[in-house]
Amino acid sequence: MKTINTEKINQELDKFIKDRDWEQFHSIKNLSMALSVEASELLEIFMWLTEEDSNRVAKDKNCKTKVSEEIADIFVYLLKIAKKSEIDIEEAVLSKIKKNSEKYPVDKAKGSAKKYTEF
Ligand SMILES: [Mg+2]
Repeated sequence: MKTINTEKINQELDKFIKDRDWEQFHSIKNLSMALSVEASELLEIFMWLTEEDSNRVAKDKNCKTKVSEEIADIFVYLLKIAKKSEIDIEEAVLSKIKKNSEKYPVDKAKGSAKKYTEF
């Protein structure tokens, strides 16, 4: 997987938003709601599919396009929320992985889908 150039994406996004005068609608609350809607649109693609069929996205061109578009929508809103909240996504993700490795130690979590509170 190649490195994501968030600076380039943010520049394109800022221009897209500025050209349409949409910044006025982009409170963090509204962006969070939009993110949730886009996540639901991703879910909708898989609704009623079997687990096996849902794992064949890469082999189904039409499905892959739909998933790709929803991932883009979700990522755009995540970027906007992070930027407006002055949160470095890379730092936040790496920090969360570290925190989760402490919550889910290998000796207790390996092969288990239990929540850490059930260990
Ligand atoms: Mg969408």
